[in-house]
Amino acid sequence: MKTAKIESLLQKSNVRPTAMRILVYNFLLENEAAKSLTDLENYFDKSDRTTLYRTIKTFEDKGVVHQIDDGTGTTKYALCEQGCNCQIETDLHLHFYCNICDETVCLTDRKIPNINLPDGYTAEDANLVIKGRCEKCPE
Ligand SMILES: [Zn+2]
Ligand SMILES: [Zn+2]
Ligand SMILES: [Zn+2]
Repeated sequence: MKTAKIESLLQKSNVRPTAMRILVYNFLLENEAAKSLTDLENYFDKSDRTTLYRTIKTFEDKGVVHQIDDGTGTTKYALCEQGCNCQIETDLHLHFYCNICDETVCLTDRKIPNINLPDGYTAEDANLVIKGRCEKCPE
């Protein structure tokens, strides 16, 4: 994606498009699988962890990325769709973790089904991870 396009997408989310933010955005965009802070650190080996952490935190606060807890113990991040508000009813989708390649992807068009909670319970977040073998891993 062109830098100018990323700039305008970030601006739309009220994120000032610094060089670092554009690079991180582009990295997440080019990778289908969700990435952890460690993945970012390894890729941007000249940047310090604090800067990367702040970049991801800003993205998260502004709804540019969402966190994924895929049960591996490592928090991963993936880009949100345009207009995503990370709302349980409308935006949260299933995630798929591949047991073979250890990658987690967003199944953006598979929304989390409406779950009927008992009286008095309020859902604030939801995390639904399907585990198995992805399309890239042969049987
Ligand atoms: Zn979102
Ligand atoms: Zn796989
Ligand atoms: Zn996702």
